[in-house]
Amino acid sequence: MLRNDQIDQWDRDHFLHPSTHAAQHARGESPNRIIRTASGVHIEDRDGNRLLDAFSGLYCVNVGYGRQEIAEAIADQARELAYYHAYAGHGTDASVTLAQMVLERAPKGMSKVYFGLGGSDANETNIKLVWYYNNVLGRPEKKKIISRWRGYHGSGLMTGSLTGLELFHKKFDLPLNGVLHTTSPYFYRREDRTQDEAAFTAQCVADLEELIAREGADTIAAFIGEPLMGTGGIVPPPEGYWPTIQAVLDRHDILLIADEVVTGFGRLGTMFGSDHYGIRPDIITIAKGLTSAYAPLSGSIIGDRVWKVLEKGTDENGVLGHGWTYSAHPIGAAAGVANLQLLDKLNLVANARDTGAYFNNSMQEALGNHPNVGEIRGDGMLCAVELVADRDDRRFFDAADKVGIRVSAAMLADHRVIARAMPQGDILGFAPPFCLTRAEADTVVAATAAAVKAVLG
Ligand code: PMP
Repeated sequence: MLRNDQIDQWDRDHFLHPSTHAAQHARGESPNRIIRTASGVHIEDRDGNRLLDAFSGLYCVNVGYGRQEIAEAIADQARELAYYHAYAGHGTDASVTLAQMVLERAPKGMSKVYFGLGGSDANETNIKLVWYYNNVLGRPEKKKIISRWRGYHGSGLMTGSLTGLELFHKKFDLPLNGVLHTTSPYFYRREDRTQDEAAFTAQCVADLEELIAREGADTIAAFIGEPLMGTGGIVPPPEGYWPTIQAVLDRHDILLIADEVVTGFGRLGTMFGSDHYGIRPDIITIAKGLTSAYAPLSGSIIGDRVWKVLEKGTDENGVLGHGWTYSAHPIGAAAGVANLQLLDKLNLVANARDTGAYFNNSMQEALGNHPNVGEIRGDGMLCAVELVADRDDRRFFDAADKVGIRVSAAMLADHRVIARAMPQGDILGFAPPFCLTRAEADTVVAATAAAVKAVLG
């Protein structure tokens, strides 16, 4: 057994962490935290500190921690068949069953499921399928992809390019050519503060139209968006946004990819965000909530329109030259089946809706009038508290003051509650497991209010 001090030293010396200030970490200037165990909404570190995880890891442990049903399903699958690939028509009971369960729950008009490992690779798959689609249709020029500023779609080469956050581009030579960013549907941060929500939606739509006109619709293959923008600040779409955006895309024969990595499988209190906001996607990205992160698994749900062209394409060109060694990994698939069964059995999507509404209302009551709270927004089991220097002028804090990070650090240190300081802006993000109780919601709200008061008065 390694000693704690050895682990700490090796962590600093040898482990390159994702999304971490690497140099500070190596010098031991930022805290490391080794997590040992977890149950329900709580995680526990190696020193026995029990923390209420109000962000479900990275908004992924949707059914909560420590679910023995999923652990057993994984163990059974590992004993029986830990691995076989899915190339050339192979499969396992678990992967085929999961594909069927996903389609049963998906919005109408979906035909097939392709399984990957994480959200980033699923979106890489989606872009390749969209390019293939237009090649089969004899439109080799129709390849550009539109995403939104502040959207998050992963951190690969293409997906990091689609992600509309500067941090994910800086010094990586991204975005790649052929990726276009349009206006972020972020009402609170709109440029023209005289606009009401409907006028702001009209602005987003006009900006999209203008971009399409400038680039030429015959060069644009697809638009990708999260039904509710997550990492960019937990931002629900403004009034009427999706139906009007969809109408523009339809008019220009541009495919719509709904990135439901966060919203898929119940986070908004409905099974899919597309149904929640009236979106008719051509492809849906799924990951996180598919297995509640008990094992890595993602997927692309492919709509009829795209499938028909893929079918024609493989008839004309042979094998679809795309796949990962671990596509549809049986252990991930077994976790997915057990996870979706648990979601139904415990009625967790309804709890995400009901307790989520209670949580959002309570946050509003506790902090809605605080002079440094610009906006509290959310939907289902998602909530954001946006902190500002002056709420009347909507004046933001200087990024160097790290206000969001300081408030979340105070929540952790003084109240043992984890909220996420979102990466761009002083925004506290909340995405608790769906099994959150009202008492636990009260604890999170009280911790937030106390930490805001401690840091900002
Ligand atoms: N899409 C969305 C909407 C996401 O939130 C994320 C991850 N936070 C991704 C894609 C990328 O997923 P992963 O980190 O599993 O690659």
